[in-house]
Amino acid sequence: MNLDILIFAAHPDDAELGMGGTIAKLVAEGKSVGIIDFTEAELSSNGTVESRREETAEASKVLNISIRENLKIADGKVKVNDEVVSAVIKLLRKYKPRVVFAPYFNDRHPDHIGASKIVKEAVFFSGLKKIETEFEGENQQTHRPYKLYYYMQTYEFTPSFIIDISEHFEAKMKSVRAYKSQFYNPNEKGELTFISDPKFINFLEARAKHYGFQIRKEHGEPFFSEETIELEII
Ligand SMILES: [Zn+2]
Repeated sequence: MNLDILIFAAHPDDAELGMGGTIAKLVAEGKSVGIIDFTEAELSSNGTVESRREETAEASKVLNISIRENLKIADGKVKVNDEVVSAVIKLLRKYKPRVVFAPYFNDRHPDHIGASKIVKEAVFFSGLKKIETEFEGENQQTHRPYKLYYYMQTYEFTPSFIIDISEHFEAKMKSVRAYKSQFYNPNEKGELTFISDPKFINFLEARAKHYGFQIRKEHGEPFFSEETIELEII
């Protein structure tokens, strides 16, 4: 199965928080989108691995993505090593995405930094034919995605570009709210954390409005590209 877009995230809910509106927009435009989560977020203060699995399935349904897989790396241990880079190369060669998204390479959570580095290495080495991988007993063909972009998590950066998500902001928030054990819910008595604080939902909206305004739209999501991006003037 070939995908147009493949998104990597350290924890289930990271992709939704960072680029849920863009995912909903790409799917609405007819693009096939997949998400690979590195961990099951078993270190989270609230919820369980089982509840998080159900919430992830619900969020995937809201966004109508084509595939979602979990590499089941231990939470808190997402770091570059040969084994995990090879696992990501196999996925890139399996799904042959044209565009890959990863977390921005500097962030508050060390797993986000680790995931970012792993994906960057894998995107490069996936294009080299002397790096051999097998899937279901068959040698895989090389695949080099056309672009690697980074989405924003906690730490901010000056965006390389912003996607207008005004039409898809509600879908984003619905996918985020699917993680009901993680975010503020007046009916759930969980531990107050950075993300379960009711101010966090307000912050998500404020950030989307902030980046939306920069392109004179209602809501926007910022992205970073290490490579310079071509632009057609008119
Ligand atoms: Zn995360």
